[in-house]
Amino acid sequence: MSLHETLQQRLQERRKAGLYRSPRVVERRGGVEAILDGRRYRVFCSNDYLGLAADPRLAEALSAAAVRCGVGSGAAHLISGHSPEHEALERALAEHTGRDRAVLFSTGYMANLGVIDALAGRGDRVLEDRLNHASLLDGARLAGARLIRYRHGDMADLSRRLEAGRDGRTLVVTDGVFSMDGDVAPLTEAAAVAAAHEAWLMVDDAHGLGVLGPGGAGSVAAAGLSQAQVPVLMGTLGKALGTFGAFVAGSETLVETLIQDARTYVYTTATPPPLAAATRRALAIAREEGWRRTHLQSLIARFRREAAGLGLEPMPSETPIQPLLIGDAQAATAAADRLAERGILVTAIRPPTVPKGAARLRITFSAVHSEQDLDCLLDALQSLPRPGAP
Ligand SMILES: *Cc1c(COP(=O)(O)O)cnc(C)c1O
Repeated sequence: MSLHETLQQRLQERRKAGLYRSPRVVERRGGVEAILDGRRYRVFCSNDYLGLAADPRLAEALSAAAVRCGVGSGAAHLISGHSPEHEALERALAEHTGRDRAVLFSTGYMANLGVIDALAGRGDRVLEDRLNHASLLDGARLAGARLIRYRHGDMADLSRRLEAGRDGRTLVVTDGVFSMDGDVAPLTEAAAVAAAHEAWLMVDDAHGLGVLGPGGAGSVAAAGLSQAQVPVLMGTLGKALGTFGAFVAGSETLVETLIQDARTYVYTTATPPPLAAATRRALAIAREEGWRRTHLQSLIARFRREAAGLGLEPMPSETPIQPLLIGDAQAATAAADRLAERGILVTAIRPPTVPKGAARLRITFSAVHSEQDLDCLLDALQSLPRPGAP
């Protein structure tokens, strides 16, 4: 069969299974609104948890830096692309997370590939929570290490699997906040289990940074875990911080190692310096404006209370990620379409992003949602058919 025919067949199968995906053109207007096909929507599916992505202070920092030093970094960090803006941001991120040092990566996906590949290799084991982000699973694959997946949040299962075989080095990797479920990993227990087995613990805090912990220092800080307990801490900048990019924080030795060995750090262009300037501004705002976290918590509490009152069952989560489990992929898409008719933008998350039969509406909150925005969401949810109803 020709390439064209083969791919056509594959796409057709996707369509039939209700798993076909396409990007939509979404024009964001401020923190909450977006225009899509000429219609106005309230957005409940971004990762802009603190509402900073459209904050004019970030735009100012970005444009001022662009005027001062240009847009592009011009080269990789190790050639001539590492600007004073990058350096200042790395220091600020290390301070924010309570680590000795931090190193920037272009994206979270690249950070996870680069770090796991640098720390593990053939003959080593990488143990990962079943619900870890795809980039963490891909990192273990790229490293050529033995990838062992333990049951979600199950520290007894992790412990058992750690005991079964002790050759090579062992890296335990978990999301701090699980991206599609919104629950927080049992980090204190994970640190104890990892220590008991002389395994290294890595936490991906893409969804905890800015949202959880004192000043938004993240899920690891919320659990009070030190650099010795969680030696590898990864965070992203494109979620609560509202910009783009990622970093890994830890000891001087860890960071020096990554600068030598993380291929996704070495062999890529450094992100634009103005982006680092904007992120540093975002970090300062995230720390200072505690009302953003307080307001988020009150939106989340009200949503959970009132959704339960409507007979909906939000999944157990105390973070801005508040998924409603639907099950069937087509039903989840139909529910998202129904909400869209009422001006609410929520994406149906379907396999392979989530397990088969676990399609869901991934509702997320932002500090810039108002009580009226939440009223509209709850109104629209009320119009959804109930599970089991005719
Ligand atoms: C979004 C995300 C990433 C990837 O980060 P990007 O900067 O978007 O590439 C990694 N890990 C988790 C848990 C994420 O949610």
